[in-house]
Parts: sequence; structure tokens; C-alpha cells
Amino acid sequence: MGYSVHVYEQAGPSPAGSVAYRETVAPFDDVAALEAFARSVDVVTYEFENIPSEPLEAVARIVGIHPAPAVLGTCQNRWREKAWLRANGFPHAAYAEALDGDIAPAVARLGFPCVVKTADFGYDGKGQMRISGPEDLARAAAIFRGRRCVVEQWVNFEREISVICARTAGGETRGFPAAENLHENHILDVSIVPARVPRPVEEQAQALAASIAGRLGVVGLVAVEMFLSRDGGLLVNELAPRPHNSGHWTIDACETSQFEQQVRAVCGLPLGPCGLRSPAVMVNILGDAWAWAGGAVAGEPNWSCVLREPAAKLHLYGKPEPRPGRKMGHFTVQGPDLGRALGLALDLKARIRAGATPG
Ligand code: AMP
Repeated sequence: MGYSVHVYEQAGPSPAGSVAYRETVAPFDDVAALEAFARSVDVVTYEFENIPSEPLEAVARIVGIHPAPAVLGTCQNRWREKAWLRANGFPHAAYAEALDGDIAPAVARLGFPCVVKTADFGYDGKGQMRISGPEDLARAAAIFRGRRCVVEQWVNFEREISVICARTAGGETRGFPAAENLHENHILDVSIVPARVPRPVEEQAQALAASIAGRLGVVGLVAVEMFLSRDGGLLVNELAPRPHNSGHWTIDACETSQFEQQVRAVCGLPLGPCGLRSPAVMVNILGDAWAWAGGAVAGEPNWSCVLREPAAKLHLYGKPEPRPGRKMGHFTVQGPDLGRALGLALDLKARIRAGATPG
């Protein structure tokens, strides 16, 4: 698009920094470094949520930062996020706040099963524990001691979906087709597009995401994760004001990728079309796909099985080292119909793991 990118990263050198025009490596709360960075660019955006939002106000005094730090502040803390959903009338699971591991009163109100989540800096299932019965209470109290938490009713959902919605400063919104998301250990595993939900549910999900983007005043992207409950209603689970893992398939399967759309929105350009070129299935590649022996890497995944497949596209992020649970890359499979794409994606997922029979 003709822009040069300056990356600000706390733990450099970073994958994004390695392909950018320039990289600054400094702590996220280093106001002097943030100000110098802000003076060197025309506009700022972010693709990571666990950045303290207050120091970003210093950036906002120098240059446009989108979405605004206040939006990040709302979405990155589960207390504020839930309160915002409640105050603005968006549907969500019943929840209660808890302090210092004292979750018993909240659990008594909500009943079993439920889930405890830390209010700050939790993602990908980090800082989460399902509470199935009274036997889990003492362990949860120990784990969450000293932490602010939310306790949430467990939703027996039919499906999990997400819509990534872009919004311009002028208030135009455009949503990517909803993705159906499958999780393993609370971490996104597979995204399926189009989501296998009835048309009215897709429309309702799009309307919810656009309404949330507008009410938050997002300029850029907001990903809205939702549960489709068994009675057909949608509940908002989480908001992320940035490109989202459940939208990585847009690089290969959409007229505009979520990353291009983010750039368009924050640079004041017209939004691109969000049409799906073909059904698509995205599979995350975690560090678990490597072979491990005694805590050390003992073998690479079988990349060839994906690279040999014309319908598949491999994306590796170039992170310095794999770790179990760490997102190292993903692949997307496109197909003339969803059934075939899903079948091939799940087959490649099984074969890519190091030690699996090479295909
Ligand atoms: P989160 O970090 O809140 O997005 O949670 C990660 C994943 O855990 C979700 O995508 C769900 O698969 C599962 N999960 C979280 N909260 C709930 C809930 N209240 N009921 C059922 N599953 C949940």
C-alpha cells in the first residue's frame, strides 16, 4: 500500500520488526520511548492487547492512535468489558466479580459449572479455570489469590463464532463473514468459514458486531467472539480491538484481508470488500506440533504435507523458538465446498505433527 511500517515491540527483535522498515524495542510503559516513536510516524495502531493503555495516552497527544486507548482500556480488562456490555445492553453470560481468589460467593450465585478468569492480561486460556464442583474451589482460590477475577456461568453452547468488524472514522462499518471457532484447552484450534449457522444467526452476529463497533467508537477493527446458545440466541464472550486469530483465513480467502482492512480504516482510506472467495478452514499450529524430548525440541513438524497441497497455504510467524501452547503459525485450506476443505484441513492437522506418518 506504499506505507513504511515502524514497529514498537517490548521483546525484540520481533517477527513483525524483522519485516518492517524500522523497529523500536522498549518497554510498553516507557513514555519517553513511546513519545519518540509517536513523533516518527503518521498514525499508530496495534495488533496486541496486553499493552498498558494509560501510557498510550501520551502517544494520543502527539499522533492519531486507533482504536483509541480508552477502547483498549475497556476491552483488555474483563471487569470493564463485562460492565460495558451490561451497561450497553449487549447479551452476555451471567457473571460476577471476585477479588483475591474469594470466588465462593460468586460461584454460589452462579452455580456449577462455571469458569474463573483473571480480569487483566488473560488470553488464550491463560488465567482461566473451569469450576466443575466444590472440589475445585480451594485450588481456584489458591491460583487466583491476589488477582481480580470474573466468575462466569458456563455456557453450554451450540457453536462459537466470531465476527471481525472494521469501522472508519466516519462511522462506516464492514464485517467479515462469521467464523466458526473450535477451541482446544481454551486456545483457538480451527476456524471454519462460513460458520455453520442459520442465515438469521449470521445476520444477527453481523448486526451485533457493527453495533458494538459503533458504540465503542472503534476506528480500525474489533473482533467480537460470541457463543450461539442452544436456544438460538447469541451471547458476547469477548471483544478484541485488533486483528484477531479467528480472522487469519482472510489473508487467503477474502477479497480484503483483516490486516489490509485495519490499515485502510486507520489511514482514513475507503474500506475494502469483505466477500469470501471460497469456503475456508484455518488451523493453528502451536509449538505442540514439534517433537519434544525431555523438554527440548526433537523434531520439526512435517511442513511438506501442507506445502505439497495446492489447496493449502502455510503461514509461519518466525517466532524465535517453539513452546508448547505458543502460536507459531497457521495454515488455511480453501475448497470448492466446506466439507472438502474441512476434511483436508483436519487430515493435514493430524499429519503435520512431528512424528506423524509423513504424507
Ligand atoms: P476466552 O479467553 O474468554 O475467550 O475463553 C477462551 C475459550 O474458553 C472460549 O472461546 C470458550 O471455548 C471457552 N470458554 C470461555 N468462557 C466460557 C463460558 N462461560 N462457557 C463455556 N466456555 C467458555
